[in-house]
Amino acid sequence: MNRFPTARTLSLALAYALSALTAQPAPARDYPIQPVPFTQTEIADGFWAPRIAKNREVTIPHNLEYCERDGRIQNFVVAAHRADGAFQGVFGFDDSDVYKVIEGAAYTLGLNADPQLDRELDLVIAKIAAAQEPDGYLYTVGQIGKTAEKPTCCVSMTRFGDLRTGHELYNAGHLFEAAAAHFQATGKRNLLEVATKYADLLTRTFGPGRNMGVPGHEEVEMGLVKLYRVTGREEYLELARFFLDQRGNARGHELYGPYNQDHEPIIQQSTAVGHAVRAAYLYSGMADVAALTGASGYLPAIDRIWSDVVSSKLYVTGGIGAEHEGEAMGDHFHLPNRTAYAETCAAIANAMWNYRLFRLHGDAKYIDVIERTAYNAILGSVALSGDLFFYVNPLASDGRYAFNADNSTGRRPWFRCSCCPPNVARFLASFGSYVYAQDDAGIYVNLFVGGRTRVDLDGRHVELRQATEYPWKGEVAISVQPDAEAEFALRVRVPGWAREQPVPSALYRYQDGAGRPYTLSVNGRPVKAALDRGYAVLERRWKPGDTVQLSLPMPVRRVISDDRVSANRGRVALERGPIVYAIESVDNAGDVFNVVLPDDAVLSAKARPDLLGGVTVITGRALGLYPGDDGRTVVTREQDFLAVPYDVWSNRGEDRMAVWLPRKVSLDFEVP
Ligand SMILES: [Zn+2]
Repeated sequence: MNRFPTARTLSLALAYALSALTAQPAPARDYPIQPVPFTQTEIADGFWAPRIAKNREVTIPHNLEYCERDGRIQNFVVAAHRADGAFQGVFGFDDSDVYKVIEGAAYTLGLNADPQLDRELDLVIAKIAAAQEPDGYLYTVGQIGKTAEKPTCCVSMTRFGDLRTGHELYNAGHLFEAAAAHFQATGKRNLLEVATKYADLLTRTFGPGRNMGVPGHEEVEMGLVKLYRVTGREEYLELARFFLDQRGNARGHELYGPYNQDHEPIIQQSTAVGHAVRAAYLYSGMADVAALTGASGYLPAIDRIWSDVVSSKLYVTGGIGAEHEGEAMGDHFHLPNRTAYAETCAAIANAMWNYRLFRLHGDAKYIDVIERTAYNAILGSVALSGDLFFYVNPLASDGRYAFNADNSTGRRPWFRCSCCPPNVARFLASFGSYVYAQDDAGIYVNLFVGGRTRVDLDGRHVELRQATEYPWKGEVAISVQPDAEAEFALRVRVPGWAREQPVPSALYRYQDGAGRPYTLSVNGRPVKAALDRGYAVLERRWKPGDTVQLSLPMPVRRVISDDRVSANRGRVALERGPIVYAIESVDNAGDVFNVVLPDDAVLSAKARPDLLGGVTVITGRALGLYPGDDGRTVVTREQDFLAVPYDVWSNRGEDRMAVWLPRKVSLDFEVP
């Protein structure tokens, strides 16, 4: 269990946060909504707490071990001339894996004191610092100058000589994010000093009248913003803005084209194009810089692009980026299932981007996307054991097509290009930051996660305690504990899925009519709260012990796609609450592509504490198609049907899986 931060760790974290705050005044302009820091939120439920504990106990040490084993950490030692050798690996961005693990580990240190992990990080940071050149440059492949194997791509041997593919600035962005997280968690400046020294080199190198290039892979923009937040150094924010304004602007650099979102000025862009992770990192950086500078042109652009994604490029699991070729966004409504790419990093980037839009607009529709993505695409990328991963997250597998990176049909402990495992590690470690938020008027309850939080509201402390068995049950009790009576708005999200809107667009809809309505009560009395942008707004004078009860009916729902998604035509997917379901061959008479789920098949939900760490499954009777005795005809047999949550598929060996099932027998035995 993820224990509540002890008084000691909390006071430590607060002291550091305070020292950072007292050193740096809050930015003059910022997002109108702030997350409640995850260090103030205890997650103590039966769903997330075990996954987050597994992340801390297994996934993060596993990532560190593989960074060591595959030479990613040794590359810093060689770059520092403390050992002989060539660069190990085939990608210039391998340094970033080390930075992302440090970031994830730092978040866990913010919650749980762990002197051994703290020391381990210091040893890695010392190696990173030793590799840094006197003027701040840090990019091990270029510094070492020779590779053990022929590089695959993304290597630049001359300093800032190939911004388009070299990933120097991408690495820098992850270094900055890691440094900010490490400083905030530990108060130590060892990594922060490396980061600011490098950022200072970037501010001297890039800008009007200097190098006018932009990174081929966006990320440094978000990193610079985080560094600005912890140091107060305006020039970092200005550089982030410079990189954004230069993108798609032929003034001073040759445009890279749509693959890198460098085809037209970003304020004119209106569709999500190119490499999906780059795209969503760019849009996240635009939101950050818009919030902190008031640069108003960015917002209409990212709002337009968001509408484009949710209405035509979003998988029902929350994944984005349909194409294997180029890890890219597909055309409108091109959402193949078996050959879906839906990279783990893209799902995480999608959540990051949507969280920033929520903080700008205060609309729960962005949290709907985050919830869908977190419970399905992101959680599905890491095995229950915590040490096996998907880079690629298809919605169907025939057990033969090697969809996963490094040519595999199942989960793998690591990849040659291993961006995803450390990314999911940092996401899970900081998951608590998505649960609650606050603004001048009050508190937002965004996700339903058992535990408690403490919100500092205009000098008052308010503790919220959430009791729920979500996502398996829709009953949520929120106990409000202000330190004294206090008037504020409690905005409780009513999920789109409970309001007949699985996603904030017409891309998916429930086929089976209206479900039962949700109910809300305060201290046992039903209330009809006004719904504002997806939130039930409860504005009152709160007394200690007041309790809000939200009841979200959770029937099994049938989802169908916009007919323009050809892969899903005539097919249905199953959901219950925020969970998307899949069927696996191990549970369905050895196959999934012969299963037909007629509209009148009676389905029911059943808790299975014995299965896959404890899940609710969907059971019923379906039709199975089999070859007839003559070998030519097809016979139909009724058979037992069992669907498991998508996020736990492929935890019982490599098997066949499908999310979208045919509704009628007339369809062929085809893999969707
Ligand atoms: Zn990745």
